[in-house]
Amino acid sequence: MPSFDELRPVLTDNDKAQEFFIKKGVICPPTVCPRCTRPIAYTPNQRNTVRCRAAACRFIIPSKCDKCDGPMAEYHDDTGELRSKVCQNSSCHWTWRVKGTGYECSVLKGSVLQNVKIRKDQVLWLAYLWLLKVPARTASHITGVSEGTVGRWYRHFRRMVIEMVLQADKEDYMLGGPGRIVEGDEGKFGRRKYNRGRCVNADWVFGMVERGGERKLALIVIPDRKANTLLPLIMSFVRPGTQINTDKHGGYNKIKDLEGYNYEHRTLCHKYEFVAQDGTHTQTIKGNWRVLKKNVPESQREGSNLQEYLYECMWRRKHAKHLWKSFIEGLACLRYRPEDIDRLWEMREDREESWSPEESSVDDSLDANSSVSDDDSLSEPSSDYMVI
Ligand SMILES: [Zn+2]
Ligand SMILES: [Zn+2]
Repeated sequence: MPSFDELRPVLTDNDKAQEFFIKKGVICPPTVCPRCTRPIAYTPNQRNTVRCRAAACRFIIPSKCDKCDGPMAEYHDDTGELRSKVCQNSSCHWTWRVKGTGYECSVLKGSVLQNVKIRKDQVLWLAYLWLLKVPARTASHITGVSEGTVGRWYRHFRRMVIEMVLQADKEDYMLGGPGRIVEGDEGKFGRRKYNRGRCVNADWVFGMVERGGERKLALIVIPDRKANTLLPLIMSFVRPGTQINTDKHGGYNKIKDLEGYNYEHRTLCHKYEFVAQDGTHTQTIKGNWRVLKKNVPESQREGSNLQEYLYECMWRRKHAKHLWKSFIEGLACLRYRPEDIDRLWEMREDREESWSPEESSVDDSLDANSSVSDDDSLSEPSSDYMVI
């Protein structure tokens, strides 16, 4: 991570932050006028918009809303002459009149920063603090952004990172290869009722970690520990020819027989040994469980919430050396805005489940149509996890 001092200009100055976002491709002002197809260029201005200066553009009737790309309704006068067109999107209502204005839209249109209510430098600062795992309350003190808003932004950042994982090349998140060792193990992420007492609920997570180097991780919530669940995950995350170490759990028995994968499977019995006589051990993944459990708050250990945190862990591990750079680059590649990510997530998951109250409030840091149904909840790890 760059130091605060290095980033100070962009973390504390709105204009510099916007410049930074443009330079990094997170904000991409259009280079061609969508209305008249002439080239246009963004020059910093008070209104923070990009405009088409072609005179002819004013006489072209827009086919869709300049602001939001929404559908437009036509309004005619008594003689049937077209007078205006109005965006039908209830949160927009942008109006075009016959006397004509050339194309003009916010420079933020279509970027993850569209409709964002806090300053752009604050977005960057919060991202910086989130990457450093600064708790929301502390971040609120540091930045002056309300704690609720910080919490929602933290959640958005997590969503963005998850999208980065889901949109990444499958290969990017694969582990092992010939001569490499991957340890696999199942861990139980328990939840205590009202944060005390004994565990009342727990989800199994299947974890795989590659030994040495980056210690790349794959972590997936699993509905059960049967071979039919575990083996497909191994095949989708572990490269052929890898040595796989596990305990003697029956679900792993067929690892050696997976055709075309050529895995070498070694086992040990946790009950009796830490390291088998041939040196086989799974201490790396065991050590990871401890760290991971510290990173997933107990209130979030269910269904989709748990999987979200696990994806975040995978991303953080993979990019540990360049968190800031990778995050900003990832933002530039994101095809979705946070609102879309919320919607996307809802489409992916269909099971209702509890949502922790502290996160369920309506989002006011973004615009109305993002007022997120936060009851997005998940389910068993659906077919989704294979997408990676
Ligand atoms: Zn134009
Ligand atoms: Zn509109």
